Amino acid sequence: MAHLTDQEIASKAEIRPIQDIADKAGISHDALEMYGKYKAKVDIHKIEGDASKAKVVLVSAMNPTPAGEGKSTCTVGLADAFNKLEKNVMVALREPSLGPVMGIKGGATGGGHAQVLPMEEINLHFNGDLHAITTANNALAAFIDNHIHHGNKLNIDPRRVTWKRVMDMNDRALRQVVVGLGGPTRGVPREDSFDITVASEIMAVLCLATDIIDLKKKLADIVFGYTYDKEPVTVGQLEVEGALALLLKEAIKPNLVQTMEGTPALIHGGPFANIAHGCNSLIATNTARKLADIVVTECGFGSDLGGEKFMDIKARKGNFAPDAIVLVATIRALKMNGGVAKSDLGEVNVEALEAGIVNLEKHIENARKFGVEPVVALNDFVTDTDDERNYVLDWCKEQGVRVALTKVWEHGGAGGTDLAEQVLEVLDQEQNFKHLYENELPINKKIEKIVTEVYGGDGVIFTDKAKKQLAEINLHGWGDFPVCMAKTQYSLSDNPTLLGRPSGFNVTVREVIAKAGAGFVVALTGDIMTMPGLPKTPSAVNMDVDADGNSKGLF
Ligand code: ADP
Repeated sequence: MAHLTDQEIASKAEIRPIQDIADKAGISHDALEMYGKYKAKVDIHKIEGDASKAKVVLVSAMNPTPAGEGKSTCTVGLADAFNKLEKNVMVALREPSLGPVMGIKGGATGGGHAQVLPMEEINLHFNGDLHAITTANNALAAFIDNHIHHGNKLNIDPRRVTWKRVMDMNDRALRQVVVGLGGPTRGVPREDSFDITVASEIMAVLCLATDIIDLKKKLADIVFGYTYDKEPVTVGQLEVEGALALLLKEAIKPNLVQTMEGTPALIHGGPFANIAHGCNSLIATNTARKLADIVVTECGFGSDLGGEKFMDIKARKGNFAPDAIVLVATIRALKMNGGVAKSDLGEVNVEALEAGIVNLEKHIENARKFGVEPVVALNDFVTDTDDERNYVLDWCKEQGVRVALTKVWEHGGAGGTDLAEQVLEVLDQEQNFKHLYENELPINKKIEKIVTEVYGGDGVIFTDKAKKQLAEINLHGWGDFPVCMAKTQYSLSDNPTLLGRPSGFNVTVREVIAKAGAGFVVALTGDIMTMPGLPKTPSAVNMDVDADGNSKGLF
């Protein structure tokens, strides 16, 4: 029997008025700002509660296949399983970007019977947040070019403007552009480039701010370029942080929606984890922590990317710790890490599992490195076989790590109660959370620590450009910032073809860029690009809308 698509399943699900979900979450109607019947923004000033009491469950994963391993699906399903066990639970997720929606990977609303609703509206233009972020980012670009055009009082060197324009789409044609062409009335020509919105520092700042005043301060601290004397120039010097904060005043409010089983969900902020820090907003997580006893949240890609950045950036800046880590694994990703070609992942192959399981082993070690006990969620596909399932379950037991066959895609929360119960066991234990490094460690040493300890590499090669940038970062007093690694999600190394658990590799850092507003330093490794491209046949070709406004093709 052919399976229904995620969108078909979502369209058949019962959806409740958002006020009912607010009631369940303990949010007063007075705090709701309605965006239609099923979505609302939440006024955080009207939320009371003690955030320190909630337990935070972080959902991370092994290195994925290009299709994704069901991390959002398991996050939603686990929250629904807690809901079934009558726990007071909320889920906090990232907002989808149109790049993956139109491209290859799909939306970010989960899948099967573990989805958030309304999936179509969340996947497209969700309450305008990504548009507001795009607009604020590009307004700043316009203010910078305008300042240079009108006499350049701040002495900005047009060749050293680091601020990029953005759009929320994969568009490789915009990776390198020239702006200001066409004569004296059209501005000062300079080389420019576009990033995807989710890589914008505005996105990072929005996700790390605690409220709008903190947001304004962080916006003012953004360094967008350098003067002819190589001094950094900030948004504060341009005096536009107020305007940028104004453009973001609605976007900073977290969005309340529901899972298919009526569990309250906050979806807010959406930096990618390969090119940005990869976690939903601190405001959403903290709001959920005030309201619920258990908060289930995810971070992008594997423990090497979103996981490490959750611990070393988000948890550090938010001054909280995860109380349990769920590691999502799939048989197909294990086989792929065992060397099986993408086209052959459907075939039973226990030998490949044996070869690929070392990848999961490293992610388990990584969770423990941060002092938090993991639970492996083996995200079950109906096409998996018992031999394959048993191999992974037995292996986990031999390793002394909790594991649960997780069937939330097929059965919703009911398919995740074993996982939920095992997570509860971990939540009952005292964890010894620790960051991988202290702020005081020099940036190059922080990067070396991440590479050797979390990725399992031998060391780091810094290009001459990166070395120069490191020296400038230290000179400007940004050496205490945590590091946001930009790296391929497919491998523990910076080479997407090195699968499994590679060893003996070095990671090349080609650029190191300070994000003084967000308060971290981005290290670009390998070929990772901050403006992705679309595949030969993008998902967009399967999408459509009919005369009644019904859509299709959104997975
Ligand atoms: P991630 O968060 O890891 O990127 P998602 O949860 O978004 O992954 O899932 C990616 C896609 O895989 C979705 O279309 C989802 O429906 C599908 N998927 C996830 N888990 C399963 C499963 N157990 N069986 C079949 N399809 C699944």
